[in-house]
Amino acid sequence: MDLVTPRARPRLCPLAKSGSGGGAFTRPRPGRRTPGGGGRGGGGCRAMAGDARPSGVRAGGCWGAVESRTSFRAPRPPLPPLSFLFVLFLAAPCAWAAGYKTCPKVKPDMLNVHLVPHTHDDVGWLKTVDQYFYGIYNNIQQAGVQYILDSVISSLLADPTRRFIYVEIAFFSRWWHQQTDATQKIVRDLVRQGRLEFANGGWVMNDEATTHYGAIIDQMTLGLRFLEETFGSDGRPRVAWHIDPFGHSREQASLFAQMGFDGFFFGRLDYQDKKVRETALQMEQVWRASASLKPPTADLFTSVLPNMYSPPEGLCWDMLCADKPFVEDVRSPEYNAKELVHHFLKLATDQGKLYRTKHTVMTMGSDFQYENANMWFKNLDKLIQLVNAQQQANGSRVNVLYSTPACYLWELNKAKLNWSVKKDDFFPYADGPHMFWTGYFSSRPALKRYERLSYNFLQVCNQLEALAGPAANVGPYGSGDSAPLNEAMAVLQHHDAVSGTSRQHVADDYARQLSEGWRPCQVLMSNALAHLSGLKEDFAFCRKLNISICPLTQTAERFQVIVYNPLGRKVDWMVRLPVSKHVYLVRDPGGKTVPSDVVTIPSSDSQELLFSALVPALGFSIYSVSQMPDQSPQNSWSRDLVIQNEYLRARFDPDTGLLMELENLEQNLLLPVRQAFYWYNASTGNNLSSQASGAYIFRPNRNKPLFVSRWAQTHLVKASLVQEVHQNFSAWCSQVIRLYPRQRHLELEWTVGPIPVGDGWGKEVISRFDTGLATGGLFYTDSNGREILERRRDYRPTWKLNQTEPVAGNYYPVNSRIYITDGNMQLTVLTDRSQGGSSLTDGSLELMVHRRLLKDDERGVGEPLNSEGSGLWVRGRHLVLLDKKGTAAASHRLQAEMEVLAPQVVLAPGGGARYRLERAPRTQFSGLRRELPPSVRLLTLARWGRETLLLRLEHQFAVGEDSGRNLSSPVTLDLTNLFSAFTITHLRETTLAANQFLAYASRLQWTTDTGPPLGARIFPTQGLNLGLLHWRQTLYRLSHRGSPE
Ligand SMILES: [Zn+2]
Repeated sequence: MDLVTPRARPRLCPLAKSGSGGGAFTRPRPGRRTPGGGGRGGGGCRAMAGDARPSGVRAGGCWGAVESRTSFRAPRPPLPPLSFLFVLFLAAPCAWAAGYKTCPKVKPDMLNVHLVPHTHDDVGWLKTVDQYFYGIYNNIQQAGVQYILDSVISSLLADPTRRFIYVEIAFFSRWWHQQTDATQKIVRDLVRQGRLEFANGGWVMNDEATTHYGAIIDQMTLGLRFLEETFGSDGRPRVAWHIDPFGHSREQASLFAQMGFDGFFFGRLDYQDKKVRETALQMEQVWRASASLKPPTADLFTSVLPNMYSPPEGLCWDMLCADKPFVEDVRSPEYNAKELVHHFLKLATDQGKLYRTKHTVMTMGSDFQYENANMWFKNLDKLIQLVNAQQQANGSRVNVLYSTPACYLWELNKAKLNWSVKKDDFFPYADGPHMFWTGYFSSRPALKRYERLSYNFLQVCNQLEALAGPAANVGPYGSGDSAPLNEAMAVLQHHDAVSGTSRQHVADDYARQLSEGWRPCQVLMSNALAHLSGLKEDFAFCRKLNISICPLTQTAERFQVIVYNPLGRKVDWMVRLPVSKHVYLVRDPGGKTVPSDVVTIPSSDSQELLFSALVPALGFSIYSVSQMPDQSPQNSWSRDLVIQNEYLRARFDPDTGLLMELENLEQNLLLPVRQAFYWYNASTGNNLSSQASGAYIFRPNRNKPLFVSRWAQTHLVKASLVQEVHQNFSAWCSQVIRLYPRQRHLELEWTVGPIPVGDGWGKEVISRFDTGLATGGLFYTDSNGREILERRRDYRPTWKLNQTEPVAGNYYPVNSRIYITDGNMQLTVLTDRSQGGSSLTDGSLELMVHRRLLKDDERGVGEPLNSEGSGLWVRGRHLVLLDKKGTAAASHRLQAEMEVLAPQVVLAPGGGARYRLERAPRTQFSGLRRELPPSVRLLTLARWGRETLLLRLEHQFAVGEDSGRNLSSPVTLDLTNLFSAFTITHLRETTLAANQFLAYASRLQWTTDTGPPLGARIFPTQGLNLGLLHWRQTLYRLSHRGSPE
């Protein structure tokens, strides 16, 4: 047992003064994303929440922080060899969990009200990240994070009983680096004493609907690493804190559990769900967040906050609020203390009835509050003092105290109750009838794609940095660095960034951050490619290949194509490049000519070169391309609207030009399927509700969408390496449906925009697939790109739904895939970014690809989603798979992996100088000596310290998902000599976010009503076996080979 046993918890002083009061209350508006507040309080306490660290445990963690970049510059004792390490892990569990030892004392026989002073600092929303940090443009929103932190630290120092939590490390780390040594020491002391506590600790508070799990893990890793390196285990958050995201995914809870969090707090859930929970005393439960992982691996204690994240009515004492402060002087005509105390006691008692223990929590703060922290703390001091004085004065049974979410959680844990279990998720979120927050699943599709593409690019950058070693950072192209893109990607995960719910100028700034992050990664990748290939080329990164622009390939007579494959298995990848009107000769890395095609694009009369590249695992292949003289491309044009390869055939209706039928030739499956584009007319409010469709909310003004066009102008292109049907639906909507040889999916590349709004109607454009499949109201969507959840139309698994929006109320986030099945056949659509999706009639499946709206939806952003500029015009891809149900996962899992970690194409003019003279240049390279099995995804390979790497491997199949190739079975990996570029000398396993060594991580135990606790050690420890959907993340110490083999 390694259940926590905190020792010598500090004593807090009993309360002294008393008072009473009265006054008027203002109310924070529920649902509205604006600073809310109103109220009163009183009381003070002067005792030190001292350092009660058990002797012998040093700051910096029970078992030390995970090694930092800098720590490797100093000599350290070597890590024990691998075999010894595993023995050590099992034999020496941490005796206590950090984070609870400094919690305040409570009164077990009373109702304890835990006041949690906090600020919610969006990492961009109405203002950019920098504008928020420095407090610029306060005319847009009064908000300056640097002043908030200055002010809070001063107020904490003024009274040792006061506590505060901070969350967003993107802001905190920036502030920290601007402080003097003296201030940093003071803050370290506050953290050590538990007076300043970090909750969540990610770089941002990430969105849960439109984020991919890989990017969530990366952003949490970045924030938690800063805390671990700066404060050691004292700064390690014990609770996850997602008070503002607009609905909650099951995968997020699973990730948090595997990062080692003890509990999870959030504020927003469906209004009907909340009511049912309050009545059934289920505001707090254990969330069983994986159907594949053995409990309690993905179990997470989850608490729904009583008032979202606002203070109770009438008790907001920020400078942004209008509630009356405590006036305890009875001679004052403004005297209100008695009334305020009475009000508070009633609130606390009523709220306490909705929860199961003798503890309840009040969130004392809101958006960008505490810029003048003294206003808050002075009144909270009085509140505590005056309310607790009632215990002596008239036998009140309410005890109020400064606390934190972790300390509240600790008391719940000690209550030793049996908790009910939740197995589904918290989507979609509605804050009232007709008010479904399902629009942001699709808002700003261009930004959503740019974010996903940047994830791909960052992983390639990280891998090349790991494979090439220090040569990647300093080389012939200058200083390369993956950190700026890593930080930009972390910022993009914020719940107003990739979600598409920020103002336009903020969205533009997010895109700027990504773009600036790409540049040092390009330098890094150039250095690495030169190092690994031995060739110093003038590398070019054509960022506009999706719109057929690349100056090098369009003008040069000869050039080189370097294709890097970030997967742990070799790929056969169709390269497609814009070229001039010629025929080209393509040679593979061995100098052999490979088949190629030049295809004319009917809509633009431009040409694209196609050839298939074979690229080894975690490596590259270099192809050379040269023009052939005096020939122009010959394409065959055909009338018969059928395209096919050895696996698939797609037929089109000759009258309408629409897709009509899809056939899987391999599995002998035939499915009539019609695909077309439609649009919903966005509601601007009606007699049922004034709610309009906007950046957050989706609300069509009728349930049936309108055709963009009932038919398409078509053009068939057949070449040896591709068959395409080009469909033109309207001036602003077109599509190419294509098949490449050996491809098991149909690719639909759509182009939508600018959506016309001259008619005064906002439009929400969908792509819809209609089949005759008997789907019984069911469809399936992924959770953050990982596990799959079953969805049932007009139904919620845990309460009886009163459906008010038959379309919007059935929309769910689709991060990577959505499918329908009749139990025999399965039609799956993979997406290239997050989108909203649904199945509104049996056999049908739809995805929202673009939206342009003319009204604001009144959730605070204050702008209609009617962007000007590049986001008006959006291109994307849907990959359609038709399979037998039992074999579908093998197709969609592996294809989705390749979508997220697609090969990266780098171009070069060719003829560059030899870079490393000691050996011949190479045109092909693999970082792996053997391929990974198909069920294993290499999620992260990144530099951690000078001589350490972070490696994350995961099993990407769920229980029972694949019956054909047995990919749903556990696998065992042998890492010995796996990598060609370096030798692993030592390794240590960590938790998912790499901020704790796995062997010493422990979590609080919770008993569920489904059975007894299953042991405190929730992390699997059996070496490198990968169970279903299991992870392994390991820090490696390595020695780089001078020249990789
Ligand atoms: Zn927020």
